Amino acid sequence: MSGRLTVIGLGPGDARYLTREAEDALASAEAVYGYTAYLDRVPARAGQTRHGSDNREEPKRAAAALRHAADGAQVAVVSGGDPGVFAMAAAVCEVIEGGPPAFRAVELAVVPGITAMLAVAAKAGAPLGHDFCAISLSDNLKPWHVIERRLHAAAGAGFVIALYNPASRARPQKLGDAFAVLRETLPGDVAVIFGRAVGRADESLTVTTLDQAGCVTADMATLVIVGSPATRVILRADGTPLVYTPRSLEAVTA
Ligand code: SAH
Repeated sequence: MSGRLTVIGLGPGDARYLTREAEDALASAEAVYGYTAYLDRVPARAGQTRHGSDNREEPKRAAAALRHAADGAQVAVVSGGDPGVFAMAAAVCEVIEGGPPAFRAVELAVVPGITAMLAVAAKAGAPLGHDFCAISLSDNLKPWHVIERRLHAAAGAGFVIALYNPASRARPQKLGDAFAVLRETLPGDVAVIFGRAVGRADESLTVTTLDQAGCVTADMATLVIVGSPATRVILRADGTPLVYTPRSLEAVTA
């Protein structure tokens, strides 16, 4: 008998961001697989086994979870944010596509979560109010020249750009390199937002400009939103910035 595999988004931070659907899916799982840091956010339940692994082991984790479900178990795989955004849902699909027929017989469900880009945008105001895109700066799975080309194209097309995975130990300079590419196309005064650990106790938000963005440090828990020339910053009465991109292009070009 084939079981069920549910790929669950935990949201960006603490339990307030977990959807009711995700909570229910976690409650009915016999086994939970995930990157150890994400598993730690799932409360332990009696009778539920937990299978933590390193975050570079996504295909191995997906295969192990699929094998377990193919054996008849109710299995959950957890991801931070949304599981379909640079995360486990695609890894599971890749392993189903390349795997044995039994993997295609496993009942599969993907439970969405609040992705980091939306959580950071909400803290800043409404920077994603007009057209936007998301680019991962991780060059583990694609070459850097592709990232440069996409940054260039997105900035040239007027998109607001959410940058996931802005920092890594192997390539500490890549966010600076990305800003340099964006400066070739964008004015230096476009708004840039750094959201770190949003939704957690130590969250922080910094609003700056593309010219000054190199002075802000980003780590793996940071998401960066680079505005378009249409993005505006309003100072609120208490001096804090409110960043938004008007919905209408006419409002922008008028
Ligand atoms: N599936 C996740 C993204 C995984 S890629 C999601 O939908 O959010 C990991 C990257 O997501 C991090 O390098 C960072 O850029 C971003 N990220 C994840 N959680 C975050 C948080 N709480 N605050 C800010 N950025 C976060």
